[in-house]
Amino acid sequence: MSTIRLSKSSIGSEEIEAVTSVLTDEYLGMGSRVLEFEQNLTSLLGQEVVCVSSGTAALHLALEALGVKGGDQVLVPSLTYIASFQAISATGATPIACDVDRKGQLCLEDCKKKLNSSTKAIMPVLYAGSAHKYDDYLDFAVSHGVRCVNDAAHAFGSTRNNRLVGSYGDICCFSFDGIKNITSGEGGAIATEDKQVLEHIRNARLLGVINDSANRYKRGRSWDFNVEYQGWRYHMSDVMAAIGLEQLKKLDIFSEKRRSLAAYYCALLKESNAKAQPMYSDFDEMMPHIFPVVLDGSIKKRELREFLLSRDVQTGSHYKPNHLHTLYKGICAGLPVVSEEVYEHSLSLPLHVDLSEEDIRYVVSCLEEFCCRNQ
Ligand SMILES: *Cc1c(COP(=O)(O)O)cnc(C)c1O
Repeated sequence: MSTIRLSKSSIGSEEIEAVTSVLTDEYLGMGSRVLEFEQNLTSLLGQEVVCVSSGTAALHLALEALGVKGGDQVLVPSLTYIASFQAISATGATPIACDVDRKGQLCLEDCKKKLNSSTKAIMPVLYAGSAHKYDDYLDFAVSHGVRCVNDAAHAFGSTRNNRLVGSYGDICCFSFDGIKNITSGEGGAIATEDKQVLEHIRNARLLGVINDSANRYKRGRSWDFNVEYQGWRYHMSDVMAAIGLEQLKKLDIFSEKRRSLAAYYCALLKESNAKAQPMYSDFDEMMPHIFPVVLDGSIKKRELREFLLSRDVQTGSHYKPNHLHTLYKGICAGLPVVSEEVYEHSLSLPLHVDLSEEDIRYVVSCLEEFCCRNQ
């Protein structure tokens, strides 16, 4: 039996042909495919989308476009990928590590305590793909006069009250890296109705060259240009967009598959002796990106992970809280205690669209085996 991977891309002949066609064209940079990918994302979400080179770049540019800079603070859950924190500190601002609830979602009570006159934005992370607090985050931001920059890297394809994440809600940043709900190889996108933010990002992703995006879409570029502010080399290429365009066509299939696999895990775990509870069990509005389970207090996570690996099952740990990193020590007034508990007692089981029900039965049987042995 081959290793059951925690996550992976799912690439078919469609993606391979699309990339081959870009390569055959011998125009690999930002061109018409990027425009087409942006247009298709825009029509899906119903508000404008700009594509960039990664989810991290999307977060960084969104904050910069809002004028977030040195001396400012951004409230962010400690339990997130390092990218959220790095995107904030890249602007010169300080990421303020806030706590999460038992479902890994940003705790607004803690945000309230840490809010002050330097706070410019909150950056909720739609952990595991769940958007059940999406409106609460927006309301919080509006009522406290700060911006809401959603890290929706996990939540492409999820909804809140049947409205897609990114179809409203101030600013929404997605990632299309290799293991996300859909991929463009590497890549990211920003969805917002804020025209000023969109305009800033369109220029800033091309080293700040004003109005160059329109030329690039037509495979041209500006020569006599002007630059007014700091930019970055953060644009998306046609190679990436070609992959993204094909993946976007498969969104409904991928979404169905992820939801049904996660539901199957839930059904098996309920019947099993594995001392692990799914963190999420309702996938009506959630395209699950990861499948975290909460382990019984008696289970030693490290030993379990080693055991599963010896049985060819990879697992994940989403995430080591960021206030524990040397770079970000000392930035949390009041410890994010729940973040540390979730980190210590949760484990992510394999979830990707090429997983079979047989794989899931095997994973759960391995979990059971470990729990029986360690009675
Ligand atoms: C993947 C991810 C990012 C960053 O996206 P990249 O495209 O890898 O730069 C940011 N936040 C979270 C929670 C992620 O999972």
